[in-house]
Amino acid sequence: MKAILTVLGSGTSMGVPTIGCDCAVCHSSDPHDRRTRPSVLVQYEGKNVLIDTTPDFREQAIREQISRLDAVLYTHGHADHIRGLDDLRPLTFHRNGRIPLYARVDVADTMKQMFRYIFEDNYKYGGIAKVEMKTLEGPLELFGASFEPIPIMHGDAEIVGYRFGSAAYLTDFSEIPASSLPKLHNLDILFLDALRHKPHPTHSTVNNSLKIVEQLNPKRTFFTHICHDLPHEETNAALPSNVRLSYDGLKLNFEI
Ligand SMILES: [Zn+2]
Ligand SMILES: [Zn+2]
Repeated sequence: MKAILTVLGSGTSMGVPTIGCDCAVCHSSDPHDRRTRPSVLVQYEGKNVLIDTTPDFREQAIREQISRLDAVLYTHGHADHIRGLDDLRPLTFHRNGRIPLYARVDVADTMKQMFRYIFEDNYKYGGIAKVEMKTLEGPLELFGASFEPIPIMHGDAEIVGYRFGSAAYLTDFSEIPASSLPKLHNLDILFLDALRHKPHPTHSTVNNSLKIVEQLNPKRTFFTHICHDLPHEETNAALPSNVRLSYDGLKLNFEI
C-alpha cells in the first residue's frame, strides 16, 4: 500500500528556537531551523495514524491541515511526547467512538496520572478528549498495515520506536539493542535520533547515528530530535548524500 509520512516536528524537547536563547540557530532566518517537538503522521488508505502528541500538536495539526485521526501510537511518556494529548479534543468530538491510543503499560500509567481528568469517568465539566487507552503488547494491525514496536534504550529506560512497512521511526534513543537490529533491515526510510554532536546520556549523536546507518544500510535516513547545535544547511552539507536532517513539514512517500 502507498503511504505518506509527514514530519510534524523535528526538534528536541525544548524546541528550536529555545526560549531565551540567543544562539545563531535560534535566530536563524532559515525556516528549516524552526523545529517543533518530535512527531510524525502516517497516512494511508484514507487513515491518519499519529506517533506521539507533542506540546506543539495544535500548531502542527493546523499547519498540516489534519482534520481526522484514526489512532495514536506512543513511543514513551516524556513530556515532549505526550503533553499535547488534550489538543486532540477537536478531532475527537465529531467522530463515532473514541480515538484509540496505543502505549506500553508504563507509558499508559504515566499518561493516566498526568491526564487524570481525561481517563477518570467522573469529570464533571465536559468537553474532554474522547480517547481510549489501549495497552501495546506487540505488533499492531491498524487498517491493514502492521506497526511493530522496536525496543530501544533511552538512557537506562527501554522505550519503543516503530517499524511500519518499509519505514521505521526511532526517536529518543542512546542505543539500539542488538536484538532490535534484525527488525530494521531492508528499510527505504529510517528516522534516527541525532540530538547534536556532543555526547548526551539519553540521546544519540550525529556520529553515533551515522554508525547505525552504516550497519543497517537503509536507502534514506533522516535525523530527528535535533537541538539548536545543528544548523540545517551547514549540517546537511557535511552529511553523506543518503542522510539528511529532517525538518518540520517534510513529506515522504513509501510502501506500508
Ligand atoms: Zn524527546
Ligand atoms: Zn525522551
